[in-house]
Amino acid sequence: MKKRIIAGNWKMNQTKDTAYAMLRGLADFCASNDIPSDVEMVVCPPYPYLSLAVDTLKDSPVKVGAQNCSHESNGAFTGEVSSAMLADLGVSHVILGHSERRKYFKESDSLVLKKTRKAMSAGLQVILCVGEELAVREDEGQYLFVKNQLKDSAFLLSSANLKNLIVAYEPIWAIGTGKTATPEQANEMHYYIRDQFAENFDQPSANELSILYGGSCKPANAADLFAQVNVDGGLIGGASLTAENFTGIIDKTFPA
Ligand code: PEP
Repeated sequence: MKKRIIAGNWKMNQTKDTAYAMLRGLADFCASNDIPSDVEMVVCPPYPYLSLAVDTLKDSPVKVGAQNCSHESNGAFTGEVSSAMLADLGVSHVILGHSERRKYFKESDSLVLKKTRKAMSAGLQVILCVGEELAVREDEGQYLFVKNQLKDSAFLLSSANLKNLIVAYEPIWAIGTGKTATPEQANEMHYYIRDQFAENFDQPSANELSILYGGSCKPANAADLFAQVNVDGGLIGGASLTAENFTGIIDKTFPA
């Protein structure tokens, strides 16, 4: 069954204390609210706080994800973290292909594909990010741009891999800018992405794929975005840093 997913990407933020406060608040929220069974919540802290997250959320339905992993299995790769290590810690998800990693660390679609394969072989669910810059949208090139990103990454996976794949459409012009795609813009792109998956794989698999929207989501705009038929939840950056904002999104979007 297709899941509705709210995933929080903390990026390189939080201290041990603020991380714990957010995680504790989220665990308490889950203990006192009925979360619909098709709703999955994921928190993606920086590596040093992953164990804290796994421990604090162990009695809650919230899953823990990482923000990156290596495309290598193990060995002399100083500073890298393998997907097997993440799985060993109790991490279940990993964000790959985020626009910040593409921009600042020059990650290509082929590297994203290698990482995706490695992560899936360790049993992780991959949240694969795609999305265009403002200039591309202004030229109305967003569909071709996203199609090309998927062509060189997700469309090279096997159909068996799709059950471990979540796609996040994150228009770069909406990330951390306060500028959100309209619900219609998000829905149109998500429809297109699903259609492309149907063409490259099959319609039932495409229908099962969770496609998240990311870009300046907050409690005030989440309900309208996630009410769209092709928007299956969100990847949340800034508004995932406090339990108040993150649970505000969950609560307004998926009231029990
Ligand atoms: C993100 O970077 O994944 C993101 C969606 O950020 P924000 O919500 O802050 O725009």
